[in-house]
Amino acid sequence: MSPIAENLQEVKARISEALQGDSRAVTLVAVSKTHAPEMVREAFAAGQRDFGENYVQEAAAKIAALADLPANWHFIGTLQGNKARDVAERFDWVHGVDRAKIADLLSRHRPPGRRPLNVCVEVNISEEATKGGVRPGEALALARHIATLPGLRFRGLMGMASPSGDEAKARSEFAVLRRELEAIRAAGIPGDTLSMGMSQDWRAALAEGATMLRIGTAIFGAREAHAWSAA
Ligand SMILES: *Cc1c(COP(=O)(O)O)cnc(C)c1O
Repeated sequence: MSPIAENLQEVKARISEALQGDSRAVTLVAVSKTHAPEMVREAFAAGQRDFGENYVQEAAAKIAALADLPANWHFIGTLQGNKARDVAERFDWVHGVDRAKIADLLSRHRPPGRRPLNVCVEVNISEEATKGGVRPGEALALARHIATLPGLRFRGLMGMASPSGDEAKARSEFAVLRRELEAIRAAGIPGDTLSMGMSQDWRAALAEGATMLRIGTAIFGAREAHAWSAA
């Protein structure tokens, strides 16, 4: 078995162990940013279908190189307006929407004939000034707006905990995201996705109700300084 297949098997076993018979569906998004297409191919061969990328140019080249694979591509980075078209044309999911203007652009550029783009609103749960995302409490208004756009389908919320390594702190931050989604659903806007948890903190996220884990390092290994690029 390839190292990537082994890592995947290990990560999935740990996740089902942590779920302990909880029947919630959890999607594992393998974060392949900086890794070469061949590594994605290996993961795909091992049964992995969802992949996360956060640099538009790198992702565009990689998706093109892997066009023969029926994979689901998730854009998990911060999105600039001038890249919205590239993302709307290539991806199945966008996890980092935090402005109405970006949502409008994504909807407008979603090619007709493709299913609406699945969108999560990013919430700044760590409340670090440098992080993207709307403030807790502002997600509902943006979700309401997204729900009116024909090219988009509001799916839920995405958040990142502070990289403190403190499990209790991570849990309390993830709990903010869970409660935000509960408030949105209580307001009548359906959303089934809590995208939270990475290699370091996925257990805390799962304990707070995550339905999508975005895991890179534990599957593909450490990211190198010289990232893969198509050039
Ligand atoms: C890189 C990245 C991940 C994966 O991080 P790992 O620590 O490698 O698991 C998850 N989410 C986002 C938004 C990322 O940028």
